[in-house]
Amino acid sequence: IKKFEFNRYPDPMAKGACGAFAELFGINSDYITAGNGSDELISMLLGAFLQKGDKIMTFSPDFTMYSFYSGLFELENSVYIKDEDFNVDINEVIKRLNTENIKLVIFSNPCNPTAVGIERNDIIKLLDNTQVITVIDEAYMDFWNQSVLDLIEEYENLIILKTCSKAFGLASLRCGFAISGKKMTDHIRNAKSPYNVNGLTQIIVKAILSKKEFIANAVNEVKESAN
Ligand SMILES: *Cc1c(COP(=O)(O)O)cnc(C)c1O
Repeated sequence: IKKFEFNRYPDPMAKGACGAFAELFGINSDYITAGNGSDELISMLLGAFLQKGDKIMTFSPDFTMYSFYSGLFELENSVYIKDEDFNVDINEVIKRLNTENIKLVIFSNPCNPTAVGIERNDIIKLLDNTQVITVIDEAYMDFWNQSVLDLIEEYENLIILKTCSKAFGLASLRCGFAISGKKMTDHIRNAKSPYNVNGLTQIIVKAILSKKEFIANAVNEVKESAN
């Protein structure tokens, strides 16, 4: 970078960072909203789509920020308890989503902290059988192959979260992405604060995500260190 204008507000749409992410994952950048980490996006989504007293479903055990923000926004949290092997009975989840007046379900896939994932077929079954807003946090999907990122145009109620913090090793930058269909993306963009991703982060994320080899190496390094 030759010159960085610290006195200017950053691009509200973080187009550079979103564009690089879109290119990396082969999706349309019109369907991407960047956040100050996916933590901000989790808070943003619950705030945008729900009101005090509305009901959501989270799983247990799962990433704790879902229930943290649920409590903060005074939502009613219907917790689905996983079995002793941390598996999820998708039919049971569907049944509860459709009978308990739940407006949104959010879970990580694969799960942090259990590392157990829900297979793509089961996710599709879920999406085919409920209209509930379904937020799938794929923070660790770079280490598994059951992503449903390709389905965002097919399911209007689907939102996927991704982060630069894990596989790419950029936690300090604070950048995550919400990926969803056109209608949902409009809602999310309308609800976010205008300058949520700072200018330095935007250019660094753009530069790094544009280097596909660097990304592939980063993911492989993490995979190898786990063996
Ligand atoms: C780490 C993690 C996040 C938070 O990511 P940030 O982008 O750093 O806020 C969200 N969800 C899951 C499942 C995570 O493991």
